[in-house]
Amino acid sequence: MAKVNENYQKLPGSYLFAEIGRRSAKYAAEHPDAKMIKMGIGDVTRPLAPVVIEAMHKAVDDMSTVEGFHGYGPEQGYDFLRNAIVEHDFKARGVDIEPDEVFVSDGAKSDCGNIGDILSVDNKIAVCDPVYPVYVDTNAMAGRAGDWDPEKEEWSNIHYMPTTAENGFCPAIPEETVDVIYLCSPNNPTGTVLNRDQLKAWVDYANAHESIIMFDAAYERFITEEGIPHSIFEIEGAKTCAIEFRSFSKTAGFTGARCGYTVVPKELVRQGQSLNAMWLRRQTTKFNGASYIIERGAEAVYTPEGDKQIEETLDYYRANARVIKEGLEAAGFTVYGAVNSPYVWCKTPEGMGSWEFFDKLLTEANIITTPGAGFGPSGEGYIRLTAFGDADATKEAIERIKKLDL
Ligand code: PLP
Repeated sequence: MAKVNENYQKLPGSYLFAEIGRRSAKYAAEHPDAKMIKMGIGDVTRPLAPVVIEAMHKAVDDMSTVEGFHGYGPEQGYDFLRNAIVEHDFKARGVDIEPDEVFVSDGAKSDCGNIGDILSVDNKIAVCDPVYPVYVDTNAMAGRAGDWDPEKEEWSNIHYMPTTAENGFCPAIPEETVDVIYLCSPNNPTGTVLNRDQLKAWVDYANAHESIIMFDAAYERFITEEGIPHSIFEIEGAKTCAIEFRSFSKTAGFTGARCGYTVVPKELVRQGQSLNAMWLRRQTTKFNGASYIIERGAEAVYTPEGDKQIEETLDYYRANARVIKEGLEAAGFTVYGAVNSPYVWCKTPEGMGSWEFFDKLLTEANIITTPGAGFGPSGEGYIRLTAFGDADATKEAIERIKKLDL
């Protein structure tokens, strides 16, 4: 008899977005005239930059000729894209990364999830709470999480690190030894960032304990404040203890086009094994490369014109984030994030839970948000709003919130 991966049975249902969808759809069906504003799901809404479209069109034309046709590409990504990544995302910031340390993929979600393939099932995993659920669920699928405790809403074998206003949204270095640490900066869902000293403390910990930091920098390009690291490899010592995930999704609108990359330094070695060589082996076996057309589109992001056009779109979202933050603060809310991130993390009114405030915004202002509790127990007492929507709708949403009786 074929046996299934029993770890899947332990997974709690993907309750959060299903429940948000259920409550929103029910309300909308009962109130067909309600003008709903979506500020919940973290998907972009602005079109791809014209230079990206142009590059993709040209790549499609390449495919129509014998000379220009591209079949299977290099699993690690085409040189033209890996060289552009190294040049613009790293060398330009004084970070020395080699093209063969860059692995182009169809996005950061796959890489964050698949990286566990090259790790033992025995590792002790540490995640922030609240957290992007992919880190937790993929470890649970692999059997690294232990058992799900529905009371605590925690996995028995995962070390949760609360990141709340009380600790400045920086996870505390754990007393017990942890082997794999997931850090995300700018953070989803809190919108906050880790500074140089905070990252250095984690790098020192990881090197001292031979742990590995999985650093998710999917929102790196939203950083506006000087001095905040865009890459963990800006921190001395990171190359011997960290892997970094990047994405073109939020940076350049590729959520539907799909492209990202992962940096695995050659200096990263555990138990005598090169993680770079292992990831190469994994990718060449299980992945056949991102599409030529999409990689040409991603390359165009790094041209001067691409840079300018992408910044214009990012500024559109940044302006939305400012409208949300300043509007909510003017209405008396305590708000985090927004400055270096498309996410705004808003404290619920005194005594009101995440879901209760979600319902109030849904039914009294017709705004769909995400309850913080859905990202982990320490997200209770917060909601997440995203800046990826239409500018006028964002302003309208804030005006509606200001009018609420709280
Ligand atoms: N990492 C974080 C923190 C995210 O929030 C997301 C998407 O929302 C991703 C990774 C996935 O990005 P991609 O679209 O490249 O798969």
